[in-house]
Amino acid sequence: MDNVRVRIAPSPTGYLHVGTAHTALFNWLFAKHNNGKFILRIEDTDIQRSSKEYEENILEGLTWLGLYWDEGPYYQTQRLDLYRKYAEELLKIGAAYYCYCTPEELEQRRKEALAQKRPPKYDRKCLYLSDEEIAKYEREGRKPVIRLLVPEGKTVFNDIIRGEIEFDNEDIGDFVIMKSDGIPTYNFAVVVDDYTMGITHVIRGEDHISNTPKQLFIYNALNWTPPEFAHLPLLLGPDRSKLSKRHGVTSVTEYKKMGYLPEALVNYLALLGWTPEENKEIYTIEELIELFDLRRVTKNPGIFDITKLEWINTQHIRRLSVEKLAELTLPFLEEVEWFNRNNFDKNYYLKVVSILQERLKTLSQIREYGDYFFLDKLNYDLETVKKVCKSPDIHIYLEKIKEEWSKIPNSEFSAQNLENILRNLAETHQIPTKNLVHPIRVALTNKTVGPGLYELAEILGKERVIKRLEEFIECLKEL
Ligand code: GLU
Repeated sequence: MDNVRVRIAPSPTGYLHVGTAHTALFNWLFAKHNNGKFILRIEDTDIQRSSKEYEENILEGLTWLGLYWDEGPYYQTQRLDLYRKYAEELLKIGAAYYCYCTPEELEQRRKEALAQKRPPKYDRKCLYLSDEEIAKYEREGRKPVIRLLVPEGKTVFNDIIRGEIEFDNEDIGDFVIMKSDGIPTYNFAVVVDDYTMGITHVIRGEDHISNTPKQLFIYNALNWTPPEFAHLPLLLGPDRSKLSKRHGVTSVTEYKKMGYLPEALVNYLALLGWTPEENKEIYTIEELIELFDLRRVTKNPGIFDITKLEWINTQHIRRLSVEKLAELTLPFLEEVEWFNRNNFDKNYYLKVVSILQERLKTLSQIREYGDYFFLDKLNYDLETVKKVCKSPDIHIYLEKIKEEWSKIPNSEFSAQNLENILRNLAETHQIPTKNLVHPIRVALTNKTVGPGLYELAEILGKERVIKRLEEFIECLKEL
């Protein structure tokens, strides 16, 4: 496909929502697959609800995901002259007309229509106003809107994903294209922009299907060839209602803060509503670009499942080099007050990251899973201590272990040596090794689960291990 040009057109009235990121991703993948261009347009005509903060968040989120745009951002509020120009053209050719009805009048007549079981669409009261009527309204200080004159008949378009879609124009009232303050409505601005920006494919959420005939009227009236349309399935929560805050985090940058990898979120979102031919679940961005095909987008909604996302994140974390994972996790540690940047030892940190890599579901979990590698003192949870130290003479064995391990020279303080010594001791005293392993794990980490005990002890190093055993034995005596 040649000269593909697609766009994402977010309104800066909220943080970048995963649904918008999903649409952006499908556009971006389609552009990349076809060597086309991906354009960013900020639809900021809702001046009341738009904000710079939201806009910055949208740009930050798209950038973090790696969905770089080739053109833009364009701003609709900087293109008002253009919309005015085409609105005037529509007026001139009789495809649009001024309407002076006030919201109160419209509401009144809408109610009447409903009461009489007529469709509550605009009744065209202002379609053929006389010069006197216009003059009267103007004297009253009324500011008109501009409405599009909806043609008769049916409107059919071929959606790449959903096939032929037909609308009866009869059901659509003459809608406003320009508000009285000179700001265009969404349906009008979007057409002027998509046309003048040379958009070849409009790929957007299914919630815009009902807008498409309205947009087609404008293309036809101006004699413009419309783009192709592809309406994507929406993202739903597990209860099958539209994905919203009720279902959990919906802001893309929150996922960043929670320690998700952008490539994992991209991987996950790509598979919501699209099934590549290959039957696997973990894809790199390059693979997604290579395989992406709009025709394999499903009509069924994508159910957003955080557990699945977490699993995909785990898989991508496992694929990172230790160096990279260290670089990415460090900022999460630097956020906590117990982490001492001054003592930072890169080699030590690389070992810590490497032993935790398999277990991390998110980058931020380095804090909860790895705190003991950095804390000076562990505040033992006494309930846990009691639970793992049921035997009354456990402190005697721990004392012995401590003594034996203390004798190992620093350079030989290896997982293998630690294990051999512990096993020998367990054998000599005829106790199961697990009766020693569990308390020692708590002594060294203040946790009941974690990576291999001897391996983590090797990383902690002799000094820390011996000190913790001492502290733990003290704690036991006090209990
Ligand atoms: N600003 C619209 C939205 O955020 C864009 C819709 C479209 O892609 O046409 O939903």
